[in-house]
Order: sequence, then C-alpha cells, then structure tokens
Amino acid sequence: MIKLEDYIPVVGKSVVEELFMLAKHIEGKKIQNINSTAVGGGVAEILTRMIPLLNQMGVQARWDVIKGNEKFFVVTKKFHNGLHGVPVSVSDEEYQWFLEVNRENAEQMQFDDVVFVHDPQPIGLVEKRQQLGKNWIWRCHIDFSKPDKNIWRFLEQYISRYDAAVFSAPAFARRLSIPQVLIAPSIDPLSDKNKELEQSYIDSIFEQYKIDRSMPVVTQISRFDYLKDPVGVIKAYKLVKKHTDLQLVLAGGGATDDPEGPAIMKQVMDEAAGDKNIHVLFLPPGSDLEINALQRGSTIVLQKSLKEGFGLTVSEALWKGKPTIAGAVGGIPLQIAHKYSGILTHSIEGTAHWIKQLINEPEFAQRLGVNGKEHIKNNFLITRHIKDYLLLFVSLFHEGDVITL
Ligand code: UDP
Repeated sequence: MIKLEDYIPVVGKSVVEELFMLAKHIEGKKIQNINSTAVGGGVAEILTRMIPLLNQMGVQARWDVIKGNEKFFVVTKKFHNGLHGVPVSVSDEEYQWFLEVNRENAEQMQFDDVVFVHDPQPIGLVEKRQQLGKNWIWRCHIDFSKPDKNIWRFLEQYISRYDAAVFSAPAFARRLSIPQVLIAPSIDPLSDKNKELEQSYIDSIFEQYKIDRSMPVVTQISRFDYLKDPVGVIKAYKLVKKHTDLQLVLAGGGATDDPEGPAIMKQVMDEAAGDKNIHVLFLPPGSDLEINALQRGSTIVLQKSLKEGFGLTVSEALWKGKPTIAGAVGGIPLQIAHKYSGILTHSIEGTAHWIKQLINEPEFAQRLGVNGKEHIKNNFLITRHIKDYLLLFVSLFHEGDVITL
C-alpha cells in the first residue's frame, strides 16, 4: 500500500509533514464521501486514491455510492448534459423520480460528521439532514459556467441547503446563498495510472493493440461521451491524414452512471470505419497501467472536450511530459497556458492544425511537455488537493480559532 511518506521524493518532506500536522486538528472526525459511481470518470478516480491516504493520517474517511436504476441515470445524464449547455428537456415526472431515488438512498444511509456530496446525482440526500450544522458540503466537479436555467433552478433549491459548495474553477462560481470554495482536482503521481513504467511494458501495450509506432501516434483517453467529442477527434485526424501519416488511438470505457456510452461508441465506430490507422479501444475498468502506457508511448495526447469540469486526463498527460492539445473549456485552461505548457484549441480545424504543427516541430512539442509537467507538479498533485480538503474540514470544526501547525 502507498504511504504518504512515499510522496516525499516527489513533493518534498515539508509538504508531507504539513499534511500530518493539519490532519491532527480533525483527528477522529468521520468524513463521508457520496457519489454515484465506483468506477469510471474523474470523481471515482480521485476518491479511490484519496480515501486510503486520509485514513493513514487519522481522518476517518469513507466512500458510499448511491444506488440507482437505468431510468435514474438517464435523468441524471440529462442533468449533466443540460448543465453543460446541451439542449435537453426534463419532465416533472423525471424530476420526481430523481427525488424519489435520492430519498430511497437517504433512508438506507447513516451520515457522518462531514457529508461530502459529489455532483448533482446524490444532491437530494440533503433533505434528510437531521440538524443544522456546518457539515454538509456539495462538491461540484462539472462545468457550471452556462447551465440550463430550469435544471439550475431545480438544483439550486438543494444546493442552498448545504453549508458550503466547492467548485473546481473560478469560472464555475455562481451567485449562491452559501459560501463557495475553489479547490482544483488532482492526480496521484504514484498510482498505476501515473507512475513511471518500464519502456518494455509500454512497448508491449502498443504491440498488443497493433499500433504502428513508426508513425506519430495521437491519443485521446476518455469515456465515450458526446462532450469529449470523439467524433470531432476523428474528423481532426482525417484533416491531418491528408498531409501526414499518423495513428489515432481513441481509448476508453464507460461509467456505471453514464448510460449514453454505447450510442456514442457506435457513432465513433461509424466515423472510424474502414481506416486501419484508427484504433478504437474499449478499456474495461481497472485498465490503469494500459492507459498509463498509452499516454507515455504516444507522440501527442488530445483532450478535445467541448465542455469539461477539470479534465484529469490533461493532468495525466502533462505529468508524463506529453505535448497535449486540449479544448479551451472548463478547467482545462487552468492546466494549459497556450503555447507554453500545451495547446488550447476551439475547433476541429484548430486541433488538426496543431497536430500537424507539433508533429513537424518536435523540439517545441517537447518544451510544452516539460513546462506542462512542472505546472502539474506545482499545482495539481494529490498532496495539494489533500491539503485544501484538510483546511476546509479544519475550518468547519474550528470556526474562529487560530490554528497553529
Ligand atoms: N479513465 C479511465 N478509463 C477510461 C476512461 C477514463 O480510467 O476508460 C480515467 C482517466 O484516466 C481519468 C478519469 O477516468 O483519470 C476521467 O477524468 P476526467 O476528469 O478526464 O473526465 P470525466 O470522465 O470525469 O468527465
């Protein structure tokens, strides 16, 4: 098992010592995280890594996943799309079903000292809070910059019952009646997804999937989701292909709370049909080492999202020093300064232009990767994230106190 001390060679001793000192102020407190999927997507990725580390520091952290059927997740995916500006219509019956499933889950749950509710799916659990107190926090991981008005109005009634809301980026902060905190997500440099790998292992993964590395390899790792724009990625590849030989890898799986995956996958297969240089790989949960190898062995990593809460895949690629081209949306510009630590794009044509450019200018591409890695090291590793959460929890239990480390 990874220990907090193992992070010292990456971030330094003082960073790790500070975490232990902060954690003392909430020793014994129980922190409960609640979300809607145990696998797939960024929230599950972060909680899997963070919960064991918090427990090592004496904070009793646990993680519950709400249960829902297909109908519930169809409604919550409509929320997700609508909040991201995709036109959707949610009926009264669907809003009621959403609340019903939240109430059923709340009946079966015990709540801890701090209840940390992630994203809209479990937001209605707050109806069940027993007493007022500073311990229900809503953690929003999605891009909230231009939400559908009706869905926003519905959710706002529940958000306002929390004691605080946490957003990932300043652009998502909204006028709310409760305090708001900005905490960016993070990646774990020691996880299978991000740790250093032997070159022979990386090579074996590319051989296994028959990806021809005599040409540049351009890769996007994502759930098959409309907002990740996999079809746009293929269109950009096709524009580049007219001038340059390359391989495209589109790799990803699904999430148990995302029912749209198979339909998007079909669109991708149709768009990719007949081109043996496009590799569409369906990855089962737990493919972390494979994803790590695909990112490390690629020439360029893409994340051509149309909307993005934060985009952990961008941090993952930059951490590996990869030249990264990503949509200028949501939390991605926090990670990439255009032409300094990566490339930000706004269109299929722009993405194609920059793929060509980086293939033709490998030294410039490499510099982007070096700068990107440094930026992730300084801002988006799990140790910084744990510190922000600990400070938030400390503030809940020590309002007005002067805390000395
Ligand atoms: N991921 C994965 N398997 C997949 C697709 C994605 O493990 O098939 C991981 C990916 O490496 C990243 C996370 O899931 O760690 C996705 O987080 P991100 O913030 O990029 O997007 P989200 O899926 O949460 O919208």
